[in-house]
Amino acid sequence: MLYNFHTHSHYDDGKEPLEAYVVAAIEKGLSALGFSGHQPLPFDNEWSLHPSALPEYLAEARRLKEQYKNEINIYIGLEMDYIPGHSEDFAALMKDAGLDYCIGSVHLVMKPGSTNRDHIWFIDGPREGYFHGIQEIFNGNVRAAVEAYYEQQRQMVLTQKPHIIGHLDKVNMHNRGELFKTTEAWYQEAINHLLAAIQKTGTIVEANTRGVYTGKTTDVFPAVDILEKCHAHRIKVMVNTDAHHPQQLDQHFEETKTLLKRLGFSKTVTPFFESPL
Ligand SMILES: [Zn+2]
Ligand SMILES: [Zn+2]
Repeated sequence: MLYNFHTHSHYDDGKEPLEAYVVAAIEKGLSALGFSGHQPLPFDNEWSLHPSALPEYLAEARRLKEQYKNEINIYIGLEMDYIPGHSEDFAALMKDAGLDYCIGSVHLVMKPGSTNRDHIWFIDGPREGYFHGIQEIFNGNVRAAVEAYYEQQRQMVLTQKPHIIGHLDKVNMHNRGELFKTTEAWYQEAINHLLAAIQKTGTIVEANTRGVYTGKTTDVFPAVDILEKCHAHRIKVMVNTDAHHPQQLDQHFEETKTLLKRLGFSKTVTPFFESPL
C-alpha cells in the first residue's frame, strides 16, 4: 500500500496546484495522499502559506477530497512549525481549520529563554545562513545550537502532540560532518531524550526522503542509526517524500521501505491506518 502524507503545493513553497498532486498520486498507484502545506506564520517569509491563502487551500483540499473519493483517500493537514512564544497552538489550529492531521516540524530554532525574533536560527535555508545563525545567535557554540533544536522538538512533541514529527534530524543537513559529529555523546544524548518523549506520546516518526533525492544528504531524515533506535524503542515510523512537485510523490520510496525492512520494521503506520512492509 503506497501513501504520502508530506506534500507542498503552490499554496506554499511547492510547485503546481493541489489537483496535480492528486492526479499524479493516482497515476503512481498511491491509495492515500495527505496535503501538508506550511502553516501560516506570524511574520513574513518565503515558504509558508500566506494567512489569507489558508481558507482557499482548505476549500480546494476539501473539494478534491470529495471529487476523487472513489479513486484515492485524501487527508487534509498542515506542516506546523513549533516556535515557542510565536506559533499558534497546534490543537487550536487543527480545530479551527478542521484538519485531519498535522506534521510538527522545527525549521526555526528559538534561542532558549528568548522570544525575540532576531534570536531565531533558520536551519533549513541557505547553508551560509545556517553557519551565520550559529555564530550570531549562539555565539559560535554549535553544541548549544543543536541541543536547542532537539529540545525545541522535544517540547513540541510533549506540548503540541503532532501526529507526525517531520524530518527529525534535519539540523544535520547543512553540517556535513564539519561542525559536529553525530557520534558525539552529547548529540546521542539529545536524540535519546527526544526519542523518549516520542515513545511516550506515540508520535509517528517519518522517514523523510527529500534530502536523498535532492542530493543534500546520503541518508533519509532521520539517519539510519536513529531509525535503529526507533525500532529498538518500538516507535512507529512511516515513509514520506516531502514532495514539492507532483513527480516527487514517490521518490526514493522503495529504497526506504527496503531499508526499514532491513532494520526490522514489519509495517509502517500513518495517523489513519497501518501498512505492512
Ligand atoms: Zn519541513
Ligand atoms: Zn515539508
